[in-house]
Amino acid sequence: MQALVTGGAGFIGSTLVDRLLAEDWHVDVIDDLSSGSLANLATARTLPDRRFSFHRLDLASPAVVELIAHRRPDVIFHLAAQMDVRVSVARPVFDATVNVLGSLNVFEGAVAAGVKKVVFAGSGGTLYGTPEKIPTKETAAQHPESPYGVAKKAVGEYLYYYRHQRGLEYTVLALANVYGPRQNPHGEAGVVAIFSAKLLDRERPLIFGDGSQTRDFVYVDDVADAFVRAVEKGGGLTLNIGTGVETSVQKLYNRMAKLTGFREKADYKPARMGELQRSAVDAGRAEMHLGWKPFTMIEDGLARTLEYFKGQRAGAR
Ligand code: NAD
Repeated sequence: MQALVTGGAGFIGSTLVDRLLAEDWHVDVIDDLSSGSLANLATARTLPDRRFSFHRLDLASPAVVELIAHRRPDVIFHLAAQMDVRVSVARPVFDATVNVLGSLNVFEGAVAAGVKKVVFAGSGGTLYGTPEKIPTKETAAQHPESPYGVAKKAVGEYLYYYRHQRGLEYTVLALANVYGPRQNPHGEAGVVAIFSAKLLDRERPLIFGDGSQTRDFVYVDDVADAFVRAVEKGGGLTLNIGTGVETSVQKLYNRMAKLTGFREKADYKPARMGELQRSAVDAGRAEMHLGWKPFTMIEDGLARTLEYFKGQRAGAR
C-alpha cells in the first residue's frame, strides 16, 4: 500500500511514518519543516526512494495538488497543520491559509488521484469548546473557542462534503493531548515535552494557574495505531482518540518530578486567559468502530518520553 503523510516530519506524523514503514507500506511525506524536522525521519531516510520519499512543500501551495495527483497514494494521512492555538488567535488568516486552504489542496489532490481514504488529525481538545460533560462524547455541541479549533471543525465539514459530493472517504480522529518522544519542547503546547526538557536541565518548570487544570494525555504510539486502524474502518465518522482520564497538570508535574528525582516545586504564574479548566474525551466510539483503545499506561509513556529526551541531550553534548 502507498501512503502519503502530510506533516510527516512532525511529532505524531513521523511516529506514524515509522509504524507504516515497519508494516511494509511505501510512504511519501509532504512537510515544509516549519515545526517538524528531518531528524525525526532519520530511519525512514535510510530506505530506498521506492519505499520512502520526502517532499519539502508548503501545504498552501498548488503544487500539493499536482504532487498528490502524480504520486497517486492509496491513503492520505493528513496531519500537517499550524498547530499553535495562540498563533491562530494572533494570526487567524495565516492559520486558515495553512489549516483550511492547505487541507483543500490535499483533498483536491486526493480526488484527482482517486485516493481511497483520508484520515485527518482533528482536535478533541478544541472541537467542543468548553464542554458540558467530561469525558466528552462526539455527540456534544461543537463550539470551538479559537481560530485553530474553528479551522479543524471546518475541515471536518469539508470532508463531509467531499465524501457525499465527490466520493472521497474519510475519518476524522479528534485527538486529545498527545505526548511522547519527538514532541517539540520549545513551543507553547506540549506540556510533557516542556516539563521533560526543564526537569532534565534541573530547572523549575512553569505552571500557569494552580495546576488544577486537567488534560487527557494519550501516548503517541497509541495515536499512530488509531490512524492505521482508520485505513479500513470508521468511514464518514469523527472519532475521539484519548484515554477519558483527566490528569491535572500538578499531578503530571508530581509524577515527572518523581521520575527525574527533582525535589523542588514548580514555578507558578497567573493562569492564562482562554485556557480550558478541564478536558478529556470519551473514546468509546473509536473502540466500537476501530477496535481501538489506549494501551500505554501514563507511567510507562512518561518514562519512555523522559528516556528519549535524555538521549537527545546526551547526543547534543
Ligand atoms: P507538529 O508541529 O510536530 O507537526 C506538524 C507538522 O506539519 C510539522 O512537521 C510541520 O513542519 C508541518 N507543517 C506545518 N505547517 C505546514 C505547511 N504549511 N505545509 C507543510 N507542512 C506543514 O505537531 P503534531 O503534534 O505532530 O501535530 C500533528 C497534527 O495533529 C496536527 O494537525 C495537529 O493539529 C494535530 N493534533 C495534535 C495534538 C497534540 O496534542 N500534539 C492534539 C490534537 C491534534
